[in-house]
Amino acid sequence: MTAPLTSPQPPAAGGTMIAIEAVSKWYGEVRVLSGCSTAVTRGEVVVVCGPSGSGKSTLLKCVNALEPFQEGQITVDGTRVRDKATNLPRLRARVGMVFQHFELFPHLSVLDNLTLAPRKVLGRSKAEATQRGLDLLARVGLSAHAHKHPGQLSGGQQQRVAIARALAMDPVVMLFDEPTSALDPEMVGEVLDVMVELARDGMTMMVVTHEMGFARKVADRVVFMDRGEIVEDVAKDAFFDRPRSERAQQFLSRIL
Ligand code: ADP
Ligand code: MG
Repeated sequence: MTAPLTSPQPPAAGGTMIAIEAVSKWYGEVRVLSGCSTAVTRGEVVVVCGPSGSGKSTLLKCVNALEPFQEGQITVDGTRVRDKATNLPRLRARVGMVFQHFELFPHLSVLDNLTLAPRKVLGRSKAEATQRGLDLLARVGLSAHAHKHPGQLSGGQQQRVAIARALAMDPVVMLFDEPTSALDPEMVGEVLDVMVELARDGMTMMVVTHEMGFARKVADRVVFMDRGEIVEDVAKDAFFDRPRSERAQQFLSRIL
């Protein structure tokens, strides 16, 4: 029996962790999100899919306030993202994000990548941050690489470091934006394995991915987007077995 990857979530299973209500966003004149509404319950894993340009990345960036939006409301663990009173750095510290390109600090060791933000943002002591960092590296199978620089690791290893780095902040939710799309095929599995384990430990997750095997294995729900709209938002089995919209049927027929 191994220790879980994350601290246990608060016992109140159920309860909304992310509420997205009628969110619309424009880049200049171009509307890229149109009245998007969905909610993610504590401990739930929601896979977001849809064609390129449909607004998936933009929606995730709105959730952790990397992008502003003009209409609607997003609430993360009770905090309103678009409220002037909200402390955005504090909000972002509670929302872990993993991107397609790992964006590790190239000049820092793997371990220092994991301890920097907990020390600077959360005020953890060096000893405490180091211990937590080493625990997380062990959990993603990278203990032997703590003192290397990111450039010395494979893409799959770097992405596992990026996941561990996000977890080092003890986030209440994790957002993944196509975390395996930039990887060589033989490295996809090791990253998905870490994500599967995280899901099984009860982490609340929104995952943009085209890995439908992952979706089938761990998703509770699938949100399908097209042209800035949430077209389907249904239980996983309903999405794969009987997608209602023609757009989702076409999308699935192309990628499955
Ligand atoms: P997806 O992640 O589903 O591929 P995105 O959220 O990246 O889609 O993009 C949605 C739409 O917003 C696309 O039409 C894209 O061209 C546009 N877009 C994304 N980022 C910007 C930006 N910084 N400025 C202008 N348009 C953007
Ligand atoms: Mg994208």
